[in-house]
Amino acid sequence: MFTDGDLPIQLKTITSLNAIKSRTNFNSEQKDKSMSALPNCPECGSEYTYEDRDLLVCPECAHEWVAAAGDDQEGPVYRDANGNILQDGDTITVIKDLKIKGTSSVVKVGTKLRNIRLVEGDHDIDCKIDGIGPIKLKSEFVKKA
Ligand SMILES: [Zn+2]
Repeated sequence: MFTDGDLPIQLKTITSLNAIKSRTNFNSEQKDKSMSALPNCPECGSEYTYEDRDLLVCPECAHEWVAAAGDDQEGPVYRDANGNILQDGDTITVIKDLKIKGTSSVVKVGTKLRNIRLVEGDHDIDCKIDGIGPIKLKSEFVKKA
């Protein structure tokens, strides 16, 4: 009685192994598809963008930009020269001498600025410097202290 059932069971096992194998292949195809769903290059519109760590890179015009954060995050993300995310109230250090437009003042490299405020625009950091007053900086010239 038992011996009769052996062969069909073995066949069944082989079949389901194959089924698992083909399902695995299917999954990796799906993964490839979702990986190519990156945004087009904002500079030239190329669709051949790829990810390099947390940056997106365009192979056609060599433009690099920060990948957009998850859909649930509102507003722009501000990053310092090292790619760290900046937030209102952070303390930052200036990484190069910055001439202040319309004045003879220079913000020296290494200057620490407390309690920054992030704003939209070309100069995306608002802050106050003792003896100079309120100024605007570019986040690419600072690092989080
Ligand atoms: Zn491009």
